Amino acid sequence: MSIFHPSRCPLSAGSVRASWAALAVSLAAVVSPFPAQADTIPPAPAFAQVPGVYRQVIGDLQVTALFDGVAFLPASNLKAIAAATTDAWLNAAYVPRSAKGIQTAVNAYLVRTGGQLVLVDAGTASCFGPSLGQVLSNLKAAEVRPEDVHDVLLTHAHPDHMCGLLTADGKMAYPNATIWLSADDAAYWLSTDSRDQAPQALRGLFDMARHAAAPYQAAGRFKTFQAGDALPAGVEALPSPGHTPGHTSWLFHGGPDATLLVWGDIVHYHAVQFRRPQAAFEYDSNRQRAVASRKRLLAQVADEGWWVAGAHLPFPGIGHVRHEAGGYRWVPAEFGPTSAP
Ligand SMILES: [Zn+2]
Repeated sequence: MSIFHPSRCPLSAGSVRASWAALAVSLAAVVSPFPAQADTIPPAPAFAQVPGVYRQVIGDLQVTALFDGVAFLPASNLKAIAAATTDAWLNAAYVPRSAKGIQTAVNAYLVRTGGQLVLVDAGTASCFGPSLGQVLSNLKAAEVRPEDVHDVLLTHAHPDHMCGLLTADGKMAYPNATIWLSADDAAYWLSTDSRDQAPQALRGLFDMARHAAAPYQAAGRFKTFQAGDALPAGVEALPSPGHTPGHTSWLFHGGPDATLLVWGDIVHYHAVQFRRPQAAFEYDSNRQRAVASRKRLLAQVADEGWWVAGAHLPFPGIGHVRHEAGGYRWVPAEFGPTSAP
């Protein structure tokens, strides 16, 4: 037997509907954030992108991805793979393309570890035009002062990683930081002899590297390292030569299941080189060595389940790598809170 009987209920269905309608009208009048219908629609705000900052906690590490901007790489710079395959894989991944080339992100990474602020790579500053050069402004958007960065670890001495050591007026962008570059890259890219022996079209790269290093060298805060040297904040240098002679990937330890490899330029074309690691890049100093380094690190990060941060992976470029169908697959991190739910 039901204890509810409509005829005994003080609120009939009709009166309930009427009460809700009245409540809705009165609430709308009190709490609606929208004004009564305007005569004209206000102009749309500028549709600019939000700051290029993304935060990821990895064990004890606090990682902030900093977007520098996008470059455009021609598909023809990919070597050792048929152009038709490249084309099909770029299309399959819906990679943005224009007449200038394939959209390619440039990222830097700030890692707070053991009470120290360590920046890996510094972006392009003004070396490559207005579609890039945003690391410093995005660092400020992340509410970090450049003077609080203790160390800048360079993966290599190319200008898209090194020009950002300087401000627009040529001063040290990180006035209290020590800069770290592998001895092999320093010996090559900072040498006037290497510059003079290089093809004319590449000499500007050497000039930009020496220019970016100069104020830090003058201040005694530009250090080179070799395998086995002690490095800041317990970070490990994994040699990954080929793209440049001393290309280095940086390994951060954040506790159990919390290892991060900030790998630099191991992959430039994510839609192609995960699937086919032997596809080389026109501007690798030594393509064979670059391919060998890519194969070795891809296997290592996939086998170990390490986190990866990549300078030219789609922003924020943080995620994992898994084995798939004779190659690999990039698994990007999912946007989420920085603390446990
Ligand atoms: Zn690069």
